[in-house]
Amino acid sequence: MKGSNKPNVIFIVIDAARADHFSCYGYERETTPYIDRLASESTLYENAISAAGWTLPSHTSMFTGTFPSKHGVHNENHVYDGKYPTMAEIMKKNGYDTVGFCTNDWISDATGLTRGFDQFYDFHYSTLKHKSLRLLNYIRLHGKDSWSHAINRNIMDWVKAHDKSVPYFMFVHYGELHLPYQVPPPFNAKFLPQGMTYKQASVVNQDPKAYYAGIVKMSDQDFRQSNDLYDGALAYQDSELGRLVDFLKTKGDLDNTIFILTSDHGESLGEHRHMDHYYVLYDCLLRVPLLIRYPSVFKPGHRETGMVQTLDILPSLNQVLNLSGIDSAAIQGFSMPPLESSKGRRSFTISERYKDLKGLRETYPDVNFDHLKQWELDRKIAIRTESYKLIQSAEFESELYDLKNDPHELRNLIDKEVNVAQELRTKIKDWQNEFKSAEIENKEANFDDAVKKRLKALGYLG
Ligand SMILES: [Zn+2]
Repeated sequence: MKGSNKPNVIFIVIDAARADHFSCYGYERETTPYIDRLASESTLYENAISAAGWTLPSHTSMFTGTFPSKHGVHNENHVYDGKYPTMAEIMKKNGYDTVGFCTNDWISDATGLTRGFDQFYDFHYSTLKHKSLRLLNYIRLHGKDSWSHAINRNIMDWVKAHDKSVPYFMFVHYGELHLPYQVPPPFNAKFLPQGMTYKQASVVNQDPKAYYAGIVKMSDQDFRQSNDLYDGALAYQDSELGRLVDFLKTKGDLDNTIFILTSDHGESLGEHRHMDHYYVLYDCLLRVPLLIRYPSVFKPGHRETGMVQTLDILPSLNQVLNLSGIDSAAIQGFSMPPLESSKGRRSFTISERYKDLKGLRETYPDVNFDHLKQWELDRKIAIRTESYKLIQSAEFESELYDLKNDPHELRNLIDKEVNVAQELRTKIKDWQNEFKSAEIENKEANFDDAVKKRLKALGYLG
């Protein structure tokens, strides 16, 4: 592949970024000035929906172009078995150097999602060693270091050393928007009420497990405070992303690059009394930012309103780059506009949530979790058209929302709009009949103790 003129592909995922908090998506605070500028050079997808509401199944969907019920990775099965080639594997097969920079253990050797990467760099600050390192860097860089800062430093070194005659596929996962919010000043206090310091604000509960176990209560004011901290973290993430983009521009690496920015899922900030990204399939958790900068194909400044899913990224790359090694029959995604797709355009999106049988019970064996049954023990599928969303529950009450008149999903119309609900149920059934679902398996990833500890610090595992 030497001498190839193939574009590089940079695929950036900001963990837990909800689209409606980005200023380029209409948010009233200026949280994302750099990304807004990037949006003016990119096609922005206004209705990009993730296939799942949390990191592991969502990344597996993006990497394989398939939904959770097909790839089989979900709350009870933490290991991807590799039955469909991943994005990195496909890019490698097509002559790309493949590299990943990541802050979340759900994308690791233990979960099977690092297959195909020539190099994969983990960045974690939850262990004692890394916390100390972070503190040292924090002092050395006058409060400027963070996951993103460290990742960027490493990306820049990698790009400088990379042989330019070979195209590269780079996956970057940033984690600043993940609880707990710990970004440097001045961003950490940027959106707090006048007179409130970050130290004062950060005492708000940032432990979702304690909240769901009923050990800590959250008031409306607490959720507002979390919201302000989240927005500050986003502004910081934006500035770091801007630093990376400026570097790539200076190096000339952005000229021949397909640059993709998205998220794996959003974040609940008090909607329906939920926090973090547990249990639900509301839009705060499913509607994510999606920007593609590659002016010769994706028109700069264009805002695409048609529905797309983040698992459509892989088939879209395939369309642009004419990749070999892709399992087209297995792919469930569509090529996104403006690309033509043999399947046509999406008329609906699907997102899935599996039961969480162990959930919090191992952390709090003495707590009675009856109050959580409706969320924890439910298998849900959400189907979303341009007008309605049905969240079909396997064992509890289903929900139907009129998205045009009720975008915050507050009035359940399941008993009123019976025909609409039935029509959407039929669509789900037809969609399920199109493919063979993966067996529901229970497979825990073989994480070592340090990884388990880090995932616990992120609010995962029992
Ligand atoms: Zn995530």
